[in-house]
Amino acid sequence: MKEDFRFIKNPISGKWVIIAPKRSKRPTVAKGTEPICPFCLGHEGLTPPETYRLGGGEKDKNLFELDTNHVVKVFRVYRDRFNELKTKGQVVIFYNFGVEAAASLPHPHAQIAVIPKKVGMDITRSVTPENIIHEGKHFTVFIPQASGWPYEVWFLPKRRGRLFGDITNPELDNLVPILSKVYQKLQSKFGQKFPFNFHVYHGGDWYLRFIPRLRVLGGFELATGVYVHSTDPKEAAQELSW
Ligand SMILES: [Zn+2]
Repeated sequence: MKEDFRFIKNPISGKWVIIAPKRSKRPTVAKGTEPICPFCLGHEGLTPPETYRLGGGEKDKNLFELDTNHVVKVFRVYRDRFNELKTKGQVVIFYNFGVEAAASLPHPHAQIAVIPKKVGMDITRSVTPENIIHEGKHFTVFIPQASGWPYEVWFLPKRRGRLFGDITNPELDNLVPILSKVYQKLQSKFGQKFPFNFHVYHGGDWYLRFIPRLRVLGGFELATGVYVHSTDPKEAAQELSW
């Protein structure tokens, strides 16, 4: 599964790309070439050696179909892996669900990537909460007015200025139910199996950003880098608030 790839910097824009020819040979659902699922129990030989395991493994479920205690354990693993890897580079944790969200295998899975420090990432830093959906004990849930995607929801810890690896157990216990609640609200709006991504900001002042992937970018957006929303983030936040 080792991929050879290289980072290339665009000298004009300063943005980075990754050239990874082997990725095109990956099995994908989209191409109908899905072989035996490497993530299912009993297929561990198809993946690199296991580094960590909690529990024995059971049949596929989407993350948010698991009970709260189970999801908390999953997030504790994210935190532990983040801390394990943070000295090696910039640690990015992300989750893809659905073909439109670029999930290449139907088995629900999160991924963790370590990006060399020299690579500048084109990702927004945390912002001041606006269009608030919910105030949790440890998190503010909101939709930034200048969101990239319709109905993207941010989860910002009230204790700012820390890395995701610093999240405490009480904070995780607060985050998971409110994340599930937002997921359920989006699910009742967009359907049982709506595609989504979420990711955890790699740097200081971390946040979690949940993005329903309900549209493709148009020519205007590709030509200008300016995103067009058909729903005002203010209204989207009112719709989801509790
Ligand atoms: Zn599987």
